[in-house]
Amino acid sequence: MNKYWSETIKGIIPYVPGEQPRTGRLVKLNTNENPYPPSEAVLEAMKSAVTERLKLYPDPNCTLLRQAAASYYGTSPEMVFAGNGSDEILAFCYKAFFDPGDWLLIPDITYNFYEVYADLFGISYQTIPLTPEFEVSVQAFAEPCDGIILANPNAPTGKALPLIEIEALAKNHPEAVVIVDEAYVDFGGESAIPLLPFYDNLLVIRTFSKSRSLAGLRIGLAFGHPDLIEALIRVRDCVNCFTVDWIAQAGAIASLRDETTFRSNLASIVNTRSKATSLLRAAGFEVIASSTNFLMASYPGLPAKGLYEALRSRNIFVRFFPKPRIDQYLRITVGTDEDMSILLDALTDLT
Ligand code: PMP
Repeated sequence: MNKYWSETIKGIIPYVPGEQPRTGRLVKLNTNENPYPPSEAVLEAMKSAVTERLKLYPDPNCTLLRQAAASYYGTSPEMVFAGNGSDEILAFCYKAFFDPGDWLLIPDITYNFYEVYADLFGISYQTIPLTPEFEVSVQAFAEPCDGIILANPNAPTGKALPLIEIEALAKNHPEAVVIVDEAYVDFGGESAIPLLPFYDNLLVIRTFSKSRSLAGLRIGLAFGHPDLIEALIRVRDCVNCFTVDWIAQAGAIASLRDETTFRSNLASIVNTRSKATSLLRAAGFEVIASSTNFLMASYPGLPAKGLYEALRSRNIFVRFFPKPRIDQYLRITVGTDEDMSILLDALTDLT
C-alpha cells in the first residue's frame, strides 16, 4: 500500500493467474494452455513478419485479420474486433457498455476476472449461483440488469450451456449487453456466433490461447453487432490504438488458414480428455464431464489443497481454487497422453 495509490487500487484484489514455473522438467497442467505447439505454417508466417516493417506501427484495425476471421466464422469484418488476448477485450467491454451504477449479473462460479474488472471499473454486480450440479440456470438470470457476462462452456466447471439457453438470455434482456466468453467452445460447446444477426445485444468473445496453441501470442476476437464493435474500438482508441502487433496479426491469420493442424490437435485433446476422465474415475475420483480442455476432479475424503500441494512438490502443476463449493476440486488441464499418465501415476500414489 502506498500513499500515491488510487482508492480503487488500494481496495482491489487483482486476478491471480496460474503459476508459470521456469524449472526444468515439469508437467504443466495449471493454465489450460494447449500441449501441442503452433503449426509450422503459423511459425513461418510469424517469422516472415519479422522484417523492416516492424519500424512501422501495426495496422490498428487488424484489417486482414478481421477479414480472415469474418470469412472463417461466416460473418462480416465490421462485426469483428481483434485484441491483445481476450482478457483485454473483456476489460474493454466494461468501459464500452457499462457505467458506474449499472448492474451486471455474473455466475457465482466462473472466470474470476469478470468480478475483478467490475471492481476495477466500478460496475456493480450480483453473482448468480450455479445449480448444485454446477449448471447455469437461465431462470436465475431473470432479474433486470444492464449486462450479463458468462463463459460458455463455463470455467472452471467445464460445463456447457445449450445454445437455446444463451439465446433465451439475449432475448429476455433486450436492454442489456449479453457477453458470452467462448474461450473453450472449440473443445465441445456450441458457439453463439450464428445468433448474432438476430440479437444486437449479444457479444461473443474468442481466444487463440487455448484451442489454437497461441497463448503466448496474445490474440482475442470479439464478434457482435457493428455498433457494439464500434464501442470497443472507441475504448481501444482511448487507451492504446496498437494493441495487436504485426507478428501477432500474421500468426493469427495463418492459424485461421491451417484447419488441418487445428482440427487434429483438437481431436487429440478431446481423445485424451475422454481417456483421462475414465481413468480418473476408475481411480476413485469424481470428475465433472467436461466440454473444455480441462477437468474438475475431486477425491472423496481427501482435501484437494493437500493433493495440489503434493503434486506440486513432484513438479506436477494443476490448479486449486480456495473458494467455497469448488475447494474440493483440482482443475487439471488436459495435456498430452504422457502428461496425463504421469499425473495419474502420481495421483494413484497419493490417494
Ligand atoms: N476467458 C476464460 C474463461 C479464460 O479461462 C481465459 C484464460 N485464462 C481467458 C478468457 C483469457 O484468455 P486470453 O489468453 O485470450 O486473454
